[in-house]
Amino acid sequence: MKYVGAHVSAAGGVENAPVNAYKLGATAFALFTKNQRQWQAKPLSDNNIALFKARCEQYGYKPEQILPHDSYLINLGHPEPQALEKSRLAFIDELQRCMQLGLDRLNFHPGSHLRKMDVGDCLARIAESINLALDKTEGVIAVIENTAGQGSNLGWRFEELAEIIDQVEDKDRVGVCLDTCHTFVAGYDLRTAEACETTFADFDRIVGFRYLKGMHLNDSKAALGSRKDRHHSLGQGEIGWDVFRYIMQDDRFNGIPMVLETIDDTIWAEEIQALRKLESI
Ligand SMILES: [Zn+2]
Ligand SMILES: [Zn+2]
Repeated sequence: MKYVGAHVSAAGGVENAPVNAYKLGATAFALFTKNQRQWQAKPLSDNNIALFKARCEQYGYKPEQILPHDSYLINLGHPEPQALEKSRLAFIDELQRCMQLGLDRLNFHPGSHLRKMDVGDCLARIAESINLALDKTEGVIAVIENTAGQGSNLGWRFEELAEIIDQVEDKDRVGVCLDTCHTFVAGYDLRTAEACETTFADFDRIVGFRYLKGMHLNDSKAALGSRKDRHHSLGQGEIGWDVFRYIMQDDRFNGIPMVLETIDDTIWAEEIQALRKLESI
């Protein structure tokens, strides 16, 4: 079973996200459980939580179909102690929000060394942040998103994802979300079925499909290996349709939330329809 949807708005309250997803004909969705550009957020109210759960039930969204995304401000590999502590506390708060909503995974960007520490030390620091956060929470998987490798962002090479996972103590509570745009601009070709075969074989060998807990389905405005994070609508960028057909027809992508973060939300419903059709073509 493939679950396909989009990163929908939760404006007005998290309980609106499942409604917005349902209107798109989505069988998966992503959301922010707080404003992604602010540190502080009001706690979720009992009403938010009850409505969110009731609507997920009503529209048929189970935890494995939902991929919350944490705040963009959080840097779990921050080189400075105070800023690191702030990020770690905010990350624990994000995991706790997921627990309150009955969700089982949280998607986040691994972190950046800001050119103030070396790559290996920063990856170890990210893993330590994950360990600390998992210790203080229950039942939610920390899902590391592969990045475009822009600036000093880590987690663009599969080896870096593997190095983080390797240092996480509870392997049942760590996972990976592959973003097709990020994968491509990080230098992994996805433009043909053969290229996908090679790229996903590399992923399986280096990281392992058992850790795959979500996908972001995006085309890319930027070129292969450019390390520039510029999403595009499906089929309109440098990648093209082949990768999406490949994913929709490959069982290794079953049972996880796969969500669009494409740039034109007015065509999300069409994009979801197009993806569904690819399952059988
Ligand atoms: Zn992301
Ligand atoms: Zn993404």
